[in-house]
Amino acid sequence: MRISEITNWAYGVTVALTALSASAFIFSAHSATQERIAVEEHLALDDLGEDLALGAEERTDEARLYVMRGDLRHLDAFHGKEGEERQRETAIRRVRELGASQAELTALDDVAREAEALDKIEADAVAAYGNSDQAGARQILFGPDHDRLQTQMLASVTRFRELTSARTEAALADARWRADWWSLAAKILLSLNAALFLGVLYFILRRRVAMPLVRMTGIVSRLAKQDYEVDVPLDRRRDEIGEMNQAIHIFRENGIERDRLDAERRQDLKTKDLILQMMHRLQACQKQAELAEVVALFAPQIFPDLAGQLYVMNEARSGLTSVASWLEPHRSEPSFPATACWALRRGRPHVSAHDHGDIGCQHLNEDEAAGLCVPLTAQGDAIGLLYFEERPDCEMAADASRLYLELIAENVGLAVANLQLRDKLTNLSVRDPLTGLHNRRSLDEDVNRYTRDASHDPLACMMIDIDHFKRFNDEFGHDAGDEVMRYVSQIIVDTIGDAGRAYRFGGEEFAVFMPGAAADEAFSFAERVRTNIRSTALSHRGRILGAVSVSIGMAYSEDASEASMLLSRADAALLEAKAGGRNMTIAAFPSDSDRHKRGSG
Ligand code: GH3
Ligand code: MG
Ligand code: MG
Repeated sequence: MRISEITNWAYGVTVALTALSASAFIFSAHSATQERIAVEEHLALDDLGEDLALGAEERTDEARLYVMRGDLRHLDAFHGKEGEERQRETAIRRVRELGASQAELTALDDVAREAEALDKIEADAVAAYGNSDQAGARQILFGPDHDRLQTQMLASVTRFRELTSARTEAALADARWRADWWSLAAKILLSLNAALFLGVLYFILRRRVAMPLVRMTGIVSRLAKQDYEVDVPLDRRRDEIGEMNQAIHIFRENGIERDRLDAERRQDLKTKDLILQMMHRLQACQKQAELAEVVALFAPQIFPDLAGQLYVMNEARSGLTSVASWLEPHRSEPSFPATACWALRRGRPHVSAHDHGDIGCQHLNEDEAAGLCVPLTAQGDAIGLLYFEERPDCEMAADASRLYLELIAENVGLAVANLQLRDKLTNLSVRDPLTGLHNRRSLDEDVNRYTRDASHDPLACMMIDIDHFKRFNDEFGHDAGDEVMRYVSQIIVDTIGDAGRAYRFGGEEFAVFMPGAAADEAFSFAERVRTNIRSTALSHRGRILGAVSVSIGMAYSEDASEASMLLSRADAALLEAKAGGRNMTIAAFPSDSDRHKRGSG
């Protein structure tokens, strides 16, 4: 029940009780008045009876004194008492008005009649005395007739008084009982009213208002401090306090929702900021290793619930190899053929999960964790793959995060493509297209670098020229010549390995720089190059080209900054080798003993 309804009801009942208690008080007052009237009536009738008895006695006394003493004062007094007869009549009339009963009236009539008879005898005695019959007068007044009449009258007065007394006392008791009853009823009603008032006051103010308000004040102040952990008990009462409780509930839920949205917004901003930072770093990457490092560093910050791997497609576009991983993914192979991934086949993100109802990628093992493959594409070509995997107790990203995953994939793809393009362009500018060796431009740059760095490290230099190369061109055509050129350059690269760098110097001439190598070591490398080239007989399109030989001129210096001079000296040594009969190595070393070290086959 609403508090307003309760207060309305309480107000109505209080008004009704007040009206009832007021009525009871009025009745009580009325009964008290009746009681007072009954008392007055009782006293008046009692006085009247007494007056009647006394009046008759006084007249008798005055008559007797007169006849005994002959004093006229007594005669006057006797006559004076005659006026009392009128009083008696008046009293009788009043008695009737007071509602006397028939028996009382009869008794009163008896009193009046006997008083009258007594008056008559006494008047006769007074008259006899006046006629000097003193003895006769005394005889009358003290005689048996007077005595009888007087006794009868007193008896009648006594009966009248008894009758009136019995009636008025009953009326008095009745009036008193009524007055007491109404007074008690009024007091009870008043007490009820007071109890109801106090009860309603207690119930409404303390139980229904004060206590819930105190409780809610505590809750509201905690909510105002944004402490949404506070427990708001659900009060389903249908009153103002219940409505307030519901409002607080809604306020708390709104607060929690606002906090959640705030946290989401902050997280979203943080994610966007991290993605932006990652993009900037990706754009500045110069090598694939740097790119892999950036992805492995930022991806777990952006998606802490997802482990992952970055795969890059090989040059043949047949398989992928992992170049970075984060948060320990365990489902995907470190390298796999491109056909093993549905995302690469379809060119769009693909989820592999047991409960997903879709086919899983073949490069994933049979684990429960869901995996997401996002292809990296550049101008329609698949160039790699971003793989994400649910970590234990974490869930795959929601749709909003999926957009971010794809955004990252797009940017990583572009960055990989940029690096590959950059590598390709760099290769084009520094490599010779026929042999794949570094070109003359690259050689010049390296010479400049050695000179500029002035590192004073040892440096060996070879100049290699194919013997009678023109013959291959002339006899077997340029293609065969190109084939010989590729063969020779491949042997040079394989033999030198990481010990030096090979360049196509021009035409069928090659140069090799070997930084840090000792003179003897460099010479033995040169000899190995020469003998390796000579060891295989070449054929082209089914035609035997025959054995290929090279002449090598070598120079060596303890100071790499002399690279330019080394080239000249090596070239001079090469000319010597040619002049010496070809298929030989001439080393122009600075020490006298090794001045003309030569190797030939
Ligand atoms: P030598 O033993 O004295 O070095 O004799 P050679 O025939 O090797 O030297 P020569 O300088 O007379 O001939 C070099 C030839 O190499 C001339 C040129 O036509 C040919 N040549 C230069 N560049 C290429 C090339 O890229 N491909 C082909 N097929 N031939 C080339
Ligand atoms: Mg030649
Ligand atoms: Mg030549």
